[in-house]
Amino acid sequence: MKLLQDKVALITGGSRGIGRAIALKYAEEGANVCFTYLSSEQKAKELEQELQAKGVQAKAVQSDASSFTGAEALVAEVLESFGKVDILINNAGITRDNLLLRITEDQWNEVIQTNLNSVFNLTKMIIKPMMRQRAGSIINMSSVVGVNGNAGQANYAASKAGIIGFSKSIAQELGSRNIRCNVIAPGFIETDMTEKLGEEARQKYLEIIPLKRMGTPDEVAQVAVFLASDLSSYVSGQVINVCGAMSC
Ligand code: NAP
Repeated sequence: MKLLQDKVALITGGSRGIGRAIALKYAEEGANVCFTYLSSEQKAKELEQELQAKGVQAKAVQSDASSFTGAEALVAEVLESFGKVDILINNAGITRDNLLLRITEDQWNEVIQTNLNSVFNLTKMIIKPMMRQRAGSIINMSSVVGVNGNAGQANYAASKAGIIGFSKSIAQELGSRNIRCNVIAPGFIETDMTEKLGEEARQKYLEIIPLKRMGTPDEVAQVAVFLASDLSSYVSGQVINVCGAMSC
């Protein structure tokens, strides 16, 4: 029996990087997967077909996670197409790095709206169906930067720290309904997000990572499988760092 057989997962930001790796791992474990994207339509359609080829139901939906009404429409669409939602992964995220002296109000708002408001939007919309089912696993993608802070990323760190406080609160509020909520805090993972940092920053990070390498999206996805599955049935309200001991 596969770990997520016949479960339905909704993943925000599944077209690339970590979200894409989670979608693929979930399908391999038997889950039906609905994932969103913002602008990468071609990549999203290719992934949709790749998932379907694994024998599961899969659907790519263009949906801006920072939009409250968009989240409402998205959850209605998933329920209509898939009948239920067992797992929500709030993964969509962006960076707009700048020192506080130079950061603009737009750079602040864009990051908070995409990274933090999205978690509120989707979680708020999903809990009613999960409460009716009396079961659900919500996994929110934070970052070690949300735990430790990082110069030049005050907006991103604030959004990711906010996700942790939100998730611990939700775990306490919804535990009695058998809904679990956990956080993954990745370190330095090989995706488009870190690619744009450049070679100098990459070398700086590698020096402070005890495992002496970047993580892969697959290594984050494996933890997301654990947190979605019954293997973690008594794990809730926790932050799991996936960072090669960069943060301990
Ligand atoms: P990525 O490669 O840049 O991919 C980001 C994904 O989010 C894409 O699928 C993108 O869709 C989607 N997205 C962005 N804004 C969106 C919006 N408003 N609505 C819906 N989807 C949106 O990023 P990643 O590295 O995989 O990161 C995934 C998550 O892990 C993020 O929350 C990030 O903060 C977190 N994280 C990453 C690292 C790392 O080292 N990579 C470390 C810690 C935490 P499009 O393709 O359509 O643009």
